[in-house]
Amino acid sequence: MASLLRLHSRAPAGARLPLDEFMPSKPKLGQNFLRDAQAIERIAAAVGGCEGRTVVEIGPGRGAITRALAGRAGRVLAIELDRALAARLCEEFAPERVTVVEQDVLEFDFAAAAAAAGERLTVAGNLPYYITSPILLKLAASHAALDRAVLMVQREVADRVAAGPGSRDFGVLSASVQMYGPVEKLFTLPPSAFSPPPEVHSTVIRWRFAPRFAEMGVKESEFIQFLRHAFAQKRKTLANNLRAAGMAATLVAAGLADAGIEPRARAETVALESFAALWRSLQSEGATAKNEVAPETTDTSI
Ligand code: SAM
Repeated sequence: MASLLRLHSRAPAGARLPLDEFMPSKPKLGQNFLRDAQAIERIAAAVGGCEGRTVVEIGPGRGAITRALAGRAGRVLAIELDRALAARLCEEFAPERVTVVEQDVLEFDFAAAAAAAGERLTVAGNLPYYITSPILLKLAASHAALDRAVLMVQREVADRVAAGPGSRDFGVLSASVQMYGPVEKLFTLPPSAFSPPPEVHSTVIRWRFAPRFAEMGVKESEFIQFLRHAFAQKRKTLANNLRAAGMAATLVAAGLADAGIEPRARAETVALESFAALWRSLQSEGATAKNEVAPETTDTSI
């Protein structure tokens, strides 16, 4: 595991402040702690069916959601970057119920954790918003190890990941995330549900991992890259975006016709199945974008 990983063992709590009153928050680490008891229960209920199973919690913080999960799951792996919070969590929870891992979640090896648990993992978390996109990318990349994720994200991000074609929120984030499985918006909370209150509303989403690449006859990394080209510029048509990526105009026109997509369609109106039909048609014609041969980036633009 990465060098940041640190497993804590329990120490006596002494006469210090209870964990939920402990520590001023660190805005840089996205520390807006959930304090709405009903919302905490609703998140744990949304995780659902985790009796006897392993749940990975991203950013347990002061343990508000951890406590609710610990009563339901077989075991919780709580991944917390803040050393002081990680240490205090260890004082509260028995390690066989809640294993606290002091680590950057972006470094956490979900595949190894799933192999050790002998099952696909459930993920939960009130995410640190400053790294929402990298976390979504990380979960997408780890999809084979995952069953579902229940995540609190900024409301606007939830609107985008859950949007369907034809909605103004449908974009590369929606299309890419939904290729790994369906996303539902569950409920929205005001800033007052958190301490300190963030400047934005927050929405809980549930993402069930059921990748669609094989069923649609597309190759994962090439298709995700193709979606990035397709949505590159919102004001341009899909055809213009693909031409800007280096594809021949005649092949693009033929591919759109083949896939039953209007020649002047914009990417945000096109369904995933139609994108897949277009990709297959372009592949069969040998059309490739200039930079499809470039090495995979760690681009966080989805
Ligand atoms: N789960 C708690 C709750 O709902 O009250 C805390 C949620 S708070 C929005 C986000 C948490 O993620 C904080 O505890 C923060 O320290 C932690 N965090 C920030 N960056 C992280 C990272 N890269 N890896 C793991 N945890 C991180």
